[in-house]
Amino acid sequence: NRRWVLAARPQGEPVPEDFRLETREIDASAPQDMVLIRNRHLSLDPYMRLRMNDEKSYVPPYALGETLGGQTIGEVVASGSADFTPGDSVIGSGGWQDYALLPAKMVRRIDPDRIRAPAWLGMMGMPGFTAWIGLDLVGGVKAGETFVVGAATGPVGSMAGQLARRAGARTVAIAGGAQKCALARETFGFDEAIDHRDPDFAKRLAAACPDGIDLYFENIGGAVLEAVLPLLNDFARIPVCGLIAHYNESASPADASPLAKVMRQVLVQRLHLRGFIVSDHFARYPDFLGEVAPLVGKGEIVGLEDVVNGLENAPQALIWLLAGRNRGKCVVALD
Ligand code: NDP
Repeated sequence: NRRWVLAARPQGEPVPEDFRLETREIDASAPQDMVLIRNRHLSLDPYMRLRMNDEKSYVPPYALGETLGGQTIGEVVASGSADFTPGDSVIGSGGWQDYALLPAKMVRRIDPDRIRAPAWLGMMGMPGFTAWIGLDLVGGVKAGETFVVGAATGPVGSMAGQLARRAGARTVAIAGGAQKCALARETFGFDEAIDHRDPDFAKRLAAACPDGIDLYFENIGGAVLEAVLPLLNDFARIPVCGLIAHYNESASPADASPLAKVMRQVLVQRLHLRGFIVSDHFARYPDFLGEVAPLVGKGEIVGLEDVVNGLENAPQALIWLLAGRNRGKCVVALD
């Protein structure tokens, strides 16, 4: 059984020396409740780079010397479970190796006759589902809206773009190079495709989004996010899915921009940030009064006012407020 293990933690971009190929004999049988699988396709995914770092993220790090993990499609060669028989096509976390011994309950059967086998690792697997759930979590995309996604020809971006187009959105792809841009338009049906390596990228993106951006599916971070920010419409939604532009940075790089730090934390800790302006919600003011006024009446909720006398003192009072010298609600008494 050949297997790739993590030999060293990459500094920046991974290099071949960070990987080591090992060979060892394996038992050709499967114990009770286990299945032995001959791996045929291994999925490679951006998150694997994060697992090479010794840092907290949404996936645990690989240990040094550990077989690199990853999803695989393969066929059962020996089964200790009544649920599988040799020859079954299955998907599981078989890792970077020829054979994998996995608990039967961690393995799922697939139908390679209906949909070609490697697609179960892409559009029909984890990445395709990532696109679908990411859109759903922000309430989907609506007809007439402008939708933008980076890594647009990859499994996540291409699925998200096609779902958005089917919902009636105008879809704008961000991809690396002219060939990928053509692929985005011709194969995946994006209305526009912009090359993020173009020196005029930000300008071209703005031109492709004359009505601004309503839904930005975040796969990239970095310069792409910087170009997107000024184009966002009020009430735009951003499912924060990935930040691949930052994956080769070390754990907490001193030189990471504040924006990169915020976005990383939003992603890793699944934070929900929601901007709001109270005046949008004044229709609910009576609900607030109904709930809170009785409590104030009973003294169960208290307030504090800091009253400054004289209109002539209003500027100074505002200056004090901004400097934190008010205690409670600052009010000017006019006489
Ligand atoms: P892809 O197969 O599309 O591969 C990544 C692509 O990212 C590259 O091909 C490249 O495309 C693009 N890219 C890399 N570096 C940069 C950069 N600096 N600026 C702009 N683009 C860059 O990946 P996936 O479809 O599998 O994943 C897409 C994103 O979704 C990733 O960020 C991934 O981490 C994330 N993800 C998140 C999940 C979650 O649970 N939150 C689950 C699965 C994926 P190009 O040449 O077009 O620039």
